[in-house]
Amino acid sequence: MPLITELVCVCCRRAYAPGEVAYTCPACGPAEGILDAAYDLGAARQAMTWEALGRRPLNQWRYRELLPLDAIPEWPVGWTPIVEAPRLARELGVARVRLKDEGRNLTGSFKDRASSVGVARAMAERARTIACASTGNAASSLAGYAAMAGLPAVIFVPRHAPEPKIAQLLIYGATVFRVQGSYAQAYDLCMKACGAMGWYNRNCAINSYLVEGKKTAGMEIAEQCRDDPPDWVAVSVGDGCTIAGIGKGLRQMRELGLIGWRTKLLGVQAAGVAPVAKTFRGEPFEAGGFAATVADSIDVPVPRNVRKAVDAVRESGGAFVEVSDRGILCAIRSAGQLAGVFAEPAAAAAVAGVRTALERGVMAAGASVLCVVTGSGLKDIKSAMQIAGVPIDIPPELDAVRRMFED
Ligand SMILES: *Cc1c(COP(=O)(O)O)cnc(C)c1O
Ligand SMILES: [Zn+2]
Repeated sequence: MPLITELVCVCCRRAYAPGEVAYTCPACGPAEGILDAAYDLGAARQAMTWEALGRRPLNQWRYRELLPLDAIPEWPVGWTPIVEAPRLARELGVARVRLKDEGRNLTGSFKDRASSVGVARAMAERARTIACASTGNAASSLAGYAAMAGLPAVIFVPRHAPEPKIAQLLIYGATVFRVQGSYAQAYDLCMKACGAMGWYNRNCAINSYLVEGKKTAGMEIAEQCRDDPPDWVAVSVGDGCTIAGIGKGLRQMRELGLIGWRTKLLGVQAAGVAPVAKTFRGEPFEAGGFAATVADSIDVPVPRNVRKAVDAVRESGGAFVEVSDRGILCAIRSAGQLAGVFAEPAAAAAVAGVRTALERGVMAAGASVLCVVTGSGLKDIKSAMQIAGVPIDIPPELDAVRRMFED
C-alpha cells in the first residue's frame, strides 16, 4: 500500500497507521469511529498527471496510486458511460441532464467499484472467506467478484431483497443467509459472524478501504467532465458511503491539480426513510421499520455513514432532498423513455431528486446536473412493472397492427 499514509477517525480525528487497527477506531467504536484513508498526495501528483492518465486503461484501476492495493487486479470495473439526456432535461425543467450509467458495471451496479477493491484486499490479506450484509447490490456484486477470484462468499440479506438480486447471489455461488428481520438486523448479525468466524468483512461503512473504490466514480466524473463540469451531481443515499466516496474522489482530483472546478452534491433519499437528510437539516430521526420505500437499495433506517455523507454534501455546498415512491417510479419511466437508461428504483431516485430540488428552489432551472444512475433496472423488474404499462395483445394478423395506428 505505497501511498496510504494513515487512517483518520472521522469522529475524534485520531490517526492510525495502516494495519494498526482492524476496521474502525477503537476509541469511538464501530458505529461512530469510521476511518478515512489519507494519502501522500504529493507523490500521487507526480504520478497521476493528465499525460500519465491518458496512457492508462479505461477502468477504475487507472487511479491505482490512490487505491489501497499493492497489486492491481485485472477484473473489469468502472469507466461507465455518461449519456446526454436533453429530452429528460426538458421534462424535468432543467437546462441540462447527463446520466452516468453505473448499471453497465459487471454485476449491474455501482457497488462493483467497492466490491472489487474489497475482494482484492481480502485476497491480499489471505482471507479464506469474505462476508457482507446487504440490501442486495453490495452482496450480488461481492459474490460476482468473489467468484472471479475463487474466494468463498457468505452473504446476509434482509428478507425483503428483490428476487433478481438473490438470483445473482446464488448463481455466483455464494452462501446466502436470508435473515428474518430488517437490514439493520442482518447487518448486526454479519458483524458478529465476521468477528466470531474470522471472515473478511466487506461492510462498506466500517471497512474504510471500500469507500476508496467508490470514490473512483467521482474521479471519473472529474475526467469525463474535465472541460465541461456539471453544477450538480445527484446521488441517491442509503448508508451514505456512495455520496461520500464520490465527494472524496472529486476532491482528490482537485487536490491533485487535475481539475480546478467544484460541483455541488445533491443527496437524494426516499421520503419514507430519510435519516441522513434529516441529520443534514439538524432534525432528529427515529429508526423506523423496513420496506418503507420501493427503492430497496436505499431503504436504510439506520445508516452507517451519516457523518461522512453529511460532511461531503456540506463541503460541496450542496443539499439533500427527499422523493416519494411515486416520484421514483415516474423517474424510472422517464429515464427509460427519454434517455434510454433503465434504472432500478434507488438509481432513479437521483433523477427524481432533480425535480424535487427544482420545485424547492434548491436547484436553479438553468443548472447542469449529472445524475449517477447507481443500478440497472433489471435488478428489480417488479417495481418497474408497476409503472411500465402492459403489452398490447393482438392476433397474429397484419390488420390488427394497422388498426392500432388508425385513429
Ligand atoms: C447501495 C446503493 C445506493 C446507496 O449507497 P449508500 O452507500 O448505501 O448510500 C444507491 N443506489 C444503489 C442502486 C445502491 O445499490
Ligand atoms: Zn475515533
